[in-house]
Amino acid sequence: MHEVGLVAELVDAAVARAAGRPVSLIRVRHATTIPDDVLRQAFEMLTEGGPLAAAELVAEPFEVLLTCPCGFDGALGHDDVVGPGLAVCPSCSEMRTVAREAEMELLEVRLAL
Ligand SMILES: [Zn+2]
Repeated sequence: MHEVGLVAELVDAAVARAAGRPVSLIRVRHATTIPDDVLRQAFEMLTEGGPLAAAELVAEPFEVLLTCPCGFDGALGHDDVVGPGLAVCPSCSEMRTVAREAEMELLEVRLAL
């Protein structure tokens, strides 16, 4: 479950940015290889009882795309990505490299008024 580690980093970054002030909203960008429900579950688990417990999570998904010599050209799913920058083509099952983009990125930490 490397997703939980990614969300933990995100929560740490948001807590640092808030610097003790109450947070109303967190906006993140995440690859669709991290399912939305997994992201939300991990966020709830990691923020429970902390300074972000009341913060709303707004997630903006983006797709990880692969163009393979076999002709596959499309978005990858959670099980296709096997590591940073590495994926298994869903069509021919060959190991391929994909653009290494941050799977999760903190876009905004909105402070409560
Ligand atoms: Zn292929």
